[in-house]
Amino acid sequence: MKKYVDVIVPLSIANLFTYSLPEELENKVKTGCRVVVPFGAKRYYTAIVVKIHYSAPEEYETKEVTEVLDESSAILHTQLKFWQWVADYYLCTLGDVYKAAIPSGMKLESETIVTYNQEYEAAEKMSDKEQTLLDILSNDNEQCITQIERAANIKNILPVVKSLLEKGAIFIKEELKRNYKPKTEARVRLTESMNCEIAVKESFDKLSHAPKQLAVLMKYIEISGWMSDNSDNLKEVSKKELLEKSGASASILNGLADKGILEIYYHEVGRLEKYNSDTVPMNMLNTIQQNSFNNILSAFHQKNICLLHGVTASGKTEIYIHLIQEVIKAGKQALYLLPEIALTTQITNRLKKVFGSRLGVYHSKFPDAERVEIWQKQLSENDYDVILGVRSSIFLPYRRLGLIIVDEEHETSYKQQDPAPRYHARSAAIMLASIYGAKTLLGTATPSIESYYNATHGKYALVEMKERFQNIQLPEIEIVDIKELTRKKRMNGHFSPYLLQKIRESLENKEQVILFQNRRGFAPMIECRTCGWVPKCKNCDVSLTYHKGLDQMTCHYCGYTYNVPKSCPACGGVELINRGFGTEKVEDDIKYIFPDAKVARMDLDTTRTRTAYERIINDFQEGKTDILIGTQMVSKGLDFDRVSVVGILNADSMLAYPDFRSFERAFQLMAQVAGRAGRKNKRGLVVLQTKSPELPLIHEVVTNDYFRLYNEQIEERSLFKYPPFHKLIYVYLKHKKEDILEQAAECMARYLRNGLGERVLGPDKPPVGRIQTLFIKKIVVKVELQASMSKVRNYLAQVQRTLIEDQRFRSLIVYYDVDPM
Ligand code: ADP
Ligand code: ZN
Ligand code: ZN
Repeated sequence: MKKYVDVIVPLSIANLFTYSLPEELENKVKTGCRVVVPFGAKRYYTAIVVKIHYSAPEEYETKEVTEVLDESSAILHTQLKFWQWVADYYLCTLGDVYKAAIPSGMKLESETIVTYNQEYEAAEKMSDKEQTLLDILSNDNEQCITQIERAANIKNILPVVKSLLEKGAIFIKEELKRNYKPKTEARVRLTESMNCEIAVKESFDKLSHAPKQLAVLMKYIEISGWMSDNSDNLKEVSKKELLEKSGASASILNGLADKGILEIYYHEVGRLEKYNSDTVPMNMLNTIQQNSFNNILSAFHQKNICLLHGVTASGKTEIYIHLIQEVIKAGKQALYLLPEIALTTQITNRLKKVFGSRLGVYHSKFPDAERVEIWQKQLSENDYDVILGVRSSIFLPYRRLGLIIVDEEHETSYKQQDPAPRYHARSAAIMLASIYGAKTLLGTATPSIESYYNATHGKYALVEMKERFQNIQLPEIEIVDIKELTRKKRMNGHFSPYLLQKIRESLENKEQVILFQNRRGFAPMIECRTCGWVPKCKNCDVSLTYHKGLDQMTCHYCGYTYNVPKSCPACGGVELINRGFGTEKVEDDIKYIFPDAKVARMDLDTTRTRTAYERIINDFQEGKTDILIGTQMVSKGLDFDRVSVVGILNADSMLAYPDFRSFERAFQLMAQVAGRAGRKNKRGLVVLQTKSPELPLIHEVVTNDYFRLYNEQIEERSLFKYPPFHKLIYVYLKHKKEDILEQAAECMARYLRNGLGERVLGPDKPPVGRIQTLFIKKIVVKVELQASMSKVRNYLAQVQRTLIEDQRFRSLIVYYDVDPM
């Protein structure tokens, strides 16, 4: 009987596709294997097998699978189950999930562009096909796979590309920064026949007429330590090192190999960083921590999820480390999630000390080849015991997951905004854990309202720690009323005299300062003093942000940059002024006021690369920087010792954004950034500048009164039908033409109301009504918790189908944001 496979293709299409298997591949396929399939006009995609069966589809004639790429599953059964949940819950396709889940090197398609690795040295013999492909690429460094296939005249080239990728001979184009590390290293040693001093001496004589070869041999003897007493214990010498130190060419070394004196051999090194296996024991927990640790463990007997609410620097991380150790002892794996890579450096170092090479670190700024290697290691018997990673690490394979820690669980950056799947890593982690029968620990000093609600209403367990480790005091928070000061003209730019005085004292005492301004760039916008003209992005409905360093204006939505006009295009006026202020402006002003201080800035613009983060954080930690200015990035659980003053420059800017979470978010940001002050040796000071000191929120920040904030918020949420009482789904519609979009949005809202009634609000124009040349409309669906979400989802899908079938709306884009942030 003919065999068929159902596969996921990496496209946003709703259905699985069925392909037939040619006879020779019938026994090679398993579920979870990757296969190469033709699709549409495209030559091929890498697809994933989810089912093997014997029934041909009725609707279409099947094409054949071209090739099977894996001998065993590259995607585990549990992962497929998880993908299905993500697709269902977040209203997207399995193809969307597939695209997000897998590193590029594992999903080659005809259009994938590969580039030649100039630094690659062949360590193994290449097959003829591989050699042909490399020759083609070395002539023209960058080509898409179809192009190469044509030039090489090789049918079925994907497996060849795959093997070259694995060897590191080629790269996938999309990795911009690549830290090439070879997978195997060519090394040099004396041949078997050189096993005694006499033989070596003889070869010296033999080489007297080949001085260059002799020099290489001498260098080898020197580096390897062959002359030393302990010649049994020779140092391994890499070919690269030997050639570099002797200044010789590879052909000279080959000459020595031909003479049977030295030989070249290959040693597996792997691209993944090998951590020093010297580890140190964990810190002992103090009594409070030990109690919390015990409470978490016993809570896990009853509940699968526990919220650890502990003030900043209460030592949550230490507790995580002890829990992970416990999980490893039981033969299971732990996943430690962090919201942003800004944090991974510090935590990596802490975990590395304890777990050494059992720790794997995974994040999106890693070169693709490394991500593929981690994936494969996770599939093997030799998988990591602990993975530390950002949200995408929930998609890695786990064979024995026992615990997921979601650190800083309140962070909104756990939510993926674009593209689909627009998942929240906290919710997804909870689901992932439940698929494995594992536990989830959410940790934070400032819980999200949703999580705290769940923890106080029986859904999660709750463990609280109200004191800092070693009872270090929480910082003192002083409010400065900048409205009053501005009126009296006593402000120095954006700094109150009090803040400046405190910065000065701190610098005099050789202590450090953090200044927080929740906006990057120099000025949010430029304005014509004469007519009020404000430059806007031509693709999006937003004003541009001025970046002084670049002397350019940037759209923070589409990334488009513009030159600053010399005069106002509307009225011709030449007085263009800056309105508002961002981190770059703060940096400028501070450098002017404190010319001797060493100042650094941490925001999206200064941390484009991973090393940039690390440098800024390390410099600050080592005291090379006196003042660190930053956006919310500096609020993250970073742990510094010498920060005596934290300045929050403008609390009000955080409240200006119209969103039901803005107070919650402002509290979290301020409490977190305040938590950076005064950690180890003395009480820190936070100077909180605001124009509205009378707001209850400001008082709650000063008294660190989370409970009051929570109670206020929960009341509002219940009153206005927001989470956790109602589920939110935003429906977005996009189109190039505004009028068509308007009709489509009205139509969709009407259909939705037919089935969902009052639960449907809108359509509305979102705050930014056009992005990247597409107009946007938003419909809000609020569903009470008791309602059946699956019915709602089905209904949405049905309405969308009806809408898209309408000729007028053919190029309409519809997507959903479930549990939007
Ligand atoms: P949190 O994660 O709650 O912000 P951390 O775990 O980072 O707190 O702890 C704050 C500081 O106290 C860190 O520098 C940490 O090394 C130290 N610390 C916490 N608990 C212990 C412990 N049991 N032994 C030694 N140092 C600890
Ligand atoms: Zn003007
Ligand atoms: Zn734009």
